[in-house]
Amino acid sequence: MQTLNIPPAPRYSLTRARIPGALLEPPVRDWPVDWEGSVLVDLVVDDGRVAELRPAGTGASDLAGVDLDGRMVWPTFVDMHAHLDKGQVIPRVRPDGTLHGGYAITIGDRERWVVEEMRVRMEFGLQCAYAHGVSAIRTHLDSVTLALAERSFGLFADLRREWADRVDLQAVAIMPINAYLSPLGRELTELAARHDGVLGGVTDTLALVNDAYEQLDEALDALFALAHEFRLDVDLHVDQSSNLAAFTLPNIARAKLRANFEGRVVCGHCVNLSLQPDEVVDTTLALARAADLSFASMPAGMMYLMDRAPGRTPRWRGVTAAKEIMAAGLPLAVGGDNCRDAWFPYGDHDMLDTLKQAVRVFQTDDPMKGALEMATRTPADIIRRPDLGRIGVGLPAKLVIFSARSVNSLFCRDQADRIVINRGDRVLDALPRHEDLAKALGM
Ligand SMILES: [Zn+2]
Repeated sequence: MQTLNIPPAPRYSLTRARIPGALLEPPVRDWPVDWEGSVLVDLVVDDGRVAELRPAGTGASDLAGVDLDGRMVWPTFVDMHAHLDKGQVIPRVRPDGTLHGGYAITIGDRERWVVEEMRVRMEFGLQCAYAHGVSAIRTHLDSVTLALAERSFGLFADLRREWADRVDLQAVAIMPINAYLSPLGRELTELAARHDGVLGGVTDTLALVNDAYEQLDEALDALFALAHEFRLDVDLHVDQSSNLAAFTLPNIARAKLRANFEGRVVCGHCVNLSLQPDEVVDTTLALARAADLSFASMPAGMMYLMDRAPGRTPRWRGVTAAKEIMAAGLPLAVGGDNCRDAWFPYGDHDMLDTLKQAVRVFQTDDPMKGALEMATRTPADIIRRPDLGRIGVGLPAKLVIFSARSVNSLFCRDQADRIVINRGDRVLDALPRHEDLAKALGM
């Protein structure tokens, strides 16, 4: 596969590429599809963009090119939920497998988070993502104090500039939601706005403390007022708990409606939704539709953390009500989330791996409708990048070529030999090595 000879840019053809119809822009109309809904196409790349796209064999071309012989070609992936600032700290940090342990261990580790140290780890994460074919990442940045947030956003701005041609970056300020009830809320909003960022927060922590729902609603109102004033989108960590009482999703929907907030609002995790009685799921999703909410699920981390008890195998899968969210017509993306940190000791910023895990744990493979978009088109739309996560004429030629010739093969066999194309150019960067990282960090 690595011997596949991609011609040098600017102009070449890829013939007999197999692309899932759902990942074409516009979605496939009357072209012949195979049993999985994929289309065999010829495409022309010119000056970093897809210049032509037609059913295979229908266009005569003597352009230099590669015959892909039915190999799958996907748009590059979008990871709309990552935590680049705290990743890659194994073995310096040893997770205890619980959500609350993760908080406590991270607070201790933050003492080491000086700019040079964070840069090594964040760059490592970006190198992994880029080599795996991820071309946009929205990362949350811990913002529990203004000093920490300013340091992280400053470094983020440098990395965003340095990586602009390879991985597009967005940042979300994350802290307990009640920060919006203090002057820190406005300070963080101003900081996020200066970096074209997004407002975040963790809602269920407040709900769990003394059942403080009144304060939760007040904090949400303050958040939406600030987000409206600064014209920012909102991306929250919601209900990462099996506790049915710590259920803040309806509060978020009502607060958005109360505020007539017109920006995008993403609710990440929402895992206890899948434990609620059916009628609560139905009414909550009707409310979410009225409020035009979007959802993000991070299956790998949640399967690891939820329903964990010493000596006992988990009985619950720990993920959100994915099928019900999709059936309600609400956008559902998947994200990579924590990577080699105090919450989740594994991961490699490979969104194909995340997607494969999601499809299996959600059981959204029969039919596959809507599932393939969870790591491509859907997150791209949520983060306002309609040029990413799909393949269409005029869009950037950001592609991943797999040796697999069907979605089934793609999901069965490791795709370590994938070829990533960035704006028409083959990416030759190798995955960075864990042992080099450990040496650089003195671990
Ligand atoms: Zn997260």
